Amino acid sequence: MGADLRKIRPHLRITQNMKKIFAFSAFLSLCAAHLPAADVSADFAGGNAVIAASAGGKISIAPDSSGCSRGGNYWNFRVRKASGKLLEISVSGKNAVDACGAFVSEDSGKNWTPLGARSVRRCGDSAKFAYRVSEDAAEVRFASVIPYLHSDFKRFAQSRGIAIRHFCKTERGRENVFVELGNEDSAVTAILTCRHHACESAASFVLEGFLSAAKYAKNIRVAAFPLVDLDGVEEGEQGKFRKPRDHNQDYYGTSRYAATATLKRILEKLNADGKKTVVLDLHSPLFSEMSNLATRANGIYFVFGKNGKKRNLAKDFSLKLAERCNKSGGLANNPELDVDFDPFLHDRRPITFAKWAERLENVMWSAAMEIPFAVPAGEMPSTPDQLRNFGKALLEELDAHVGIVREHSWE
Ligand SMILES: [Zn+2]
Repeated sequence: MGADLRKIRPHLRITQNMKKIFAFSAFLSLCAAHLPAADVSADFAGGNAVIAASAGGKISIAPDSSGCSRGGNYWNFRVRKASGKLLEISVSGKNAVDACGAFVSEDSGKNWTPLGARSVRRCGDSAKFAYRVSEDAAEVRFASVIPYLHSDFKRFAQSRGIAIRHFCKTERGRENVFVELGNEDSAVTAILTCRHHACESAASFVLEGFLSAAKYAKNIRVAAFPLVDLDGVEEGEQGKFRKPRDHNQDYYGTSRYAATATLKRILEKLNADGKKTVVLDLHSPLFSEMSNLATRANGIYFVFGKNGKKRNLAKDFSLKLAERCNKSGGLANNPELDVDFDPFLHDRRPITFAKWAERLENVMWSAAMEIPFAVPAGEMPSTPDQLRNFGKALLEELDAHVGIVREHSWE
């Protein structure tokens, strides 16, 4: 009731003071000849920004990391009424703009253009870039990555004739989905998961490439869970470091989220039925501003166990995948960057999906993979098509790898 009154009272005041407001608006519209009345907002699917200030074409924002124990670097906002204007954007937060710069869209997020490393000026913990909006653009969007939502996955699946299946109902009432494809007679299922951390959209384009090629697989069947934290994806949340624990930390004890609990049940059932699986959990790393160095944060790498047969199989796969990708001249993972599961996280708690799955007897091997948009030493980020091509190589190498492992050492 209190909230309702608050909504009504300002309306009454506006009605009573309408004349004064019209006079004030006329005064403001005179000023607006010099100051674009920019309409800055993150109020749309996948939107994220704390808008600190907006005046005279200068816009200051920060990533909205509410609900998280640490700051993230995902942001995505739009500006209206800025046709033809030069906008100066300032983003505060540590590495809040990636090494290869931010992205811009003038068609409501359908197509995105990278602004590149040279567009960014860094000053302490903030980054600045400028952009002149086209004369005919009704709105312009800026984002730290190319956003990828449920509607994008649906469009992709539809275009490829891939049937979408029910996975679970989310905490906020959404219908989460998964897909199954590949060789139905295969003895091995590849379990692909993506967006355990909502903001990590580069990984989604790799998954698209992987799934596009999956119908040609000879040795594997594929079950893919494209948007594990679907609520976070749709509502533009960071997801990573979500309190009290994020989706990827939800494999310790009783799971809090429907998606993680359901994934556990699916894997446990396959394991109990003696079904062999390979588990690959796709992620994107936090940003790094070091564009001239092949740092972990801007190269593609695997995260897997330290010892034993499963670790050796995963490492062998990483090496073979890099060989295949380097031969083709496309994006490649860098096996030198591969790291072990964090012993602090995994010997105690919480425990991540890939590490949890590795403990199941019939999981041949399990790994997480970190895929950034930024390219080591590159000025421009990877394009969605380059990421898709990497995903295709990932499917081809995984199919070949499972075939070889089955022939030589297994069963
Ligand atoms: Zn992640």
